[in-house]
Amino acid sequence: MMNIEQIYRDADAFLEGHFKLSSGNHSQFYLQSAKVLERPDVAAKLAEELAKSIRTAGIDVDTVCSPALGGILAGYELARALGVRFIFTERVEGTMSLRRGFAVEKGEKIIVCEDIITTGGSALESAKCVESSGAEVVAYAALANRGFCKRKGSDKTAKPECKLPSDLPFFALEDFEFEIYDPKDCPLCKNGSEAIKPGSRGN
Ligand code: ZN
Repeated sequence: MMNIEQIYRDADAFLEGHFKLSSGNHSQFYLQSAKVLERPDVAAKLAEELAKSIRTAGIDVDTVCSPALGGILAGYELARALGVRFIFTERVEGTMSLRRGFAVEKGEKIIVCEDIITTGGSALESAKCVESSGAEVVAYAALANRGFCKRKGSDKTAKPECKLPSDLPFFALEDFEFEIYDPKDCPLCKNGSEAIKPGSRGN
């Protein structure tokens, strides 16, 4: 088994500090998957591991689809590992859409892939987008699971915040469960430090 946390740490993708998340909450830790994926050889290895669990589960898939921008590299490598095609959805005026000539066929079996699944909101929007064109989403996948959703093989249960449908398998390499804090009750703020947006100061 791969040590996913170590791979993230080695790539300086496992950040420790005081971070302001896109949700507005604060956390001591942050996963910067782009740092893992800047090494194509590492990305390929991770995707191959993910593909292995999908194949083992007997999931039949025609296409991998990712929500832009975060999911694209992970999804592309997963598609390569599975030997299927890759498309992505992107927001157009807030609505997840297929552009650039991408199309799906009726009944086309799709895995929606992200780099990290937190609550799965973007992945679900991506799924709804391809389903509205008649495709069938058969599974979800991500390199890392932030612990709100239940990944296949884990004995944990999904938290109410998880937006992924419970009747479809969700494949991920690792659970990374970090405490998140409402800024009002954040112990790091109470210690006097200032939360920063990940990526804003060279991290
Ligand atoms: Zn804080």
